[in-house]
Amino acid sequence: MNRRYRKTIIAGNWKMNKTATETKKFAEELKTMLPKAKWCEVVVCVPAVNISTAIRAFKDMRVSIGAENVFYERSGAYTGEVSADMLKDLGVKYVIIGHSERRQYFGETDVTVNKKVLAALEAGLHPIICVGESLEQREMGITMELIALQVKAALADVPAEKARKCVIAYEPIWAIGTGKTATAEQANEVCNAIRATIRHLYGARVARSVTIQYGGSMNPGNAAELLAQPDVDGGLIGGASLKPDQFTAIVNAANQE
Ligand code: PEP
Repeated sequence: MNRRYRKTIIAGNWKMNKTATETKKFAEELKTMLPKAKWCEVVVCVPAVNISTAIRAFKDMRVSIGAENVFYERSGAYTGEVSADMLKDLGVKYVIIGHSERRQYFGETDVTVNKKVLAALEAGLHPIICVGESLEQREMGITMELIALQVKAALADVPAEKARKCVIAYEPIWAIGTGKTATAEQANEVCNAIRATIRHLYGARVARSVTIQYGGSMNPGNAAELLAQPDVDGGLIGGASLKPDQFTAIVNAANQE
């Protein structure tokens, strides 16, 4: 973390979990645990159907609401899709784009990720852009090249003043939902390389100001060490974000002075 130059952001990714009723219950429980003063921004990204409930339920808690996906067209005959304007109008602040599960199961590519990033920024949302390598790619020694490519593709045609509004989440695919975590050194090495790519694209000032999260089996036991790394500015948290006590423990780890 480096709070002098950029925001620390702890974001939960609920994936396809929790009903609206469970969302309310989670918020009530979290309210009793979450510290009032926070050095980090806390975000909960929920399934689209639960966004309105979440906006109401987390209203007094200084918790921002995020979506887990967005479509890149503004409106039209795209049955089942949700536009960036629709999310913004509900009060959504962040949107996860290009999560590896969407790339794996729903055919997202670097091209669609870029279109979604542009649409989200146009609507005034903050994209949380997910990048990451598979185990095979890591073992082939192409992690750095691959991540640089994903970052460059996601940010194609994004001007510097809008790049500042983006969050990048480094999520090694082999660490998501597996209980295997990247070591703090591995996480920092890639987050540092992502910052170098942003520096190359936009210069040092923008690179210094962009929040780069680590995601992949972050939990109360490993959060402090990961977040102590200079280029790891927060976490994108799946499994542990579903349990108020675990999520709070990670927020507390990010809240250390
Ligand atoms: C995620 O889905 O973004 C994630 C990091 O999941 P988990 O924390 O469960 O590995």
